[in-house]
Amino acid sequence: MAAISPPPAPLIDGIGRRISYLRLSVTDRCDLRCRYCMAEDMQFLPKSAVLSIEEMGDLGERFVARGVRRIRLTGGEPLVRRGIDTLAMRLGALIGQGLDELTLTTNGMRLAEHAPMLAAAGVRRINVSLDTLDAAAFRHITRVGDVDVALQGIAAARKAGIAVKINMVALAGLNEDQLMPMLDWCAANGCDLTLIETMPLGEVADDRSDHYIPLHQFIAPLRAARAIWPIDKKTGGPARYFAIEDSPVTLGLITPLSDNFCATCNRIRLTVEGRIYMCLGQDDHVDLRASLREGGDVDGLIDAALAGKPRAHDFHIERKSTPAVARHMSATGG
Ligand code: SAM
Ligand code: SF4
Repeated sequence: MAAISPPPAPLIDGIGRRISYLRLSVTDRCDLRCRYCMAEDMQFLPKSAVLSIEEMGDLGERFVARGVRRIRLTGGEPLVRRGIDTLAMRLGALIGQGLDELTLTTNGMRLAEHAPMLAAAGVRRINVSLDTLDAAAFRHITRVGDVDVALQGIAAARKAGIAVKINMVALAGLNEDQLMPMLDWCAANGCDLTLIETMPLGEVADDRSDHYIPLHQFIAPLRAARAIWPIDKKTGGPARYFAIEDSPVTLGLITPLSDNFCATCNRIRLTVEGRIYMCLGQDDHVDLRASLREGGDVDGLIDAALAGKPRAHDFHIERKSTPAVARHMSATGG
């Protein structure tokens, strides 16, 4: 009789949280330079430091075998990575074979070109980062971006049958006046909206504390105009969800600074260098790359990483202070 090998062990962290969600950063590069995310002259990783598309596919399969049910491709900008189509197709083939969902977070700049490929790979929902609809403000925030290109990308995704959620970072003095127009635009275009507080990740030249605004303050104009109430929607992610009076839009709020969300965290992040960061807000990590390349005990390292997943992040925004975490969101995968 053939020997039956035991099923791969599920991913459970040191305090019993079951990990079912992997965020995979496929590149640290980007075609935008959002002020809160990157410095204008960002230094990117050399090619040798970056996992190949094949290595990412191997790791994705390994994580799904160990119980990951959702994978989100992110970055940097995932759609600038050469071979993203190959990776999306390979991981998409796991849907129904352990994987429930493959998603993506993008700035939308190359979405028009890639939307049909993503739909063919089985992607049904994506997040598009759009901090403002105002062309001049969009250019200012992203330093180089064109809002019309993002809007065309969103339209192409919708046409390809992909649901779009907009991610909007709340930025004092830069997009506070944009919440109501964005909500109306989302209602008219069939998109949901999630608001995010700025997090202190990486040196970015601007003083981020100048633009930090707690979400309860950012949404004050909305509360003054319409009722909003919490709804019982859970994604395992950090957002809390709300319904809005007279609006089809579901509003998500991500408040890492004003309201810590770590207790139910079910995710791990794999960087483009093959490191597992147990938490966006901490520097502890385990490096899988060497083991992957030299045939070492990758599963043992993954278990070690999980054992060290912290209870909670330690973000705080203090004026002119160094960031809580030195690496950028684009390096860890937002
Ligand atoms: N380039 C893609 C994009 O912008 O959607 C994916 C990567 S980006 C790092 C993922 C998300 O992180 C975006 O929604 C972006 O707005 C957000 N982000 C980046 N830096 C941030 C920061 N310091 N604080 C809060 N959100 C941040
Ligand atoms: Fe690029 Fe996304 Fe960072 Fe903006 S938020 S610079 S689009 S990685």
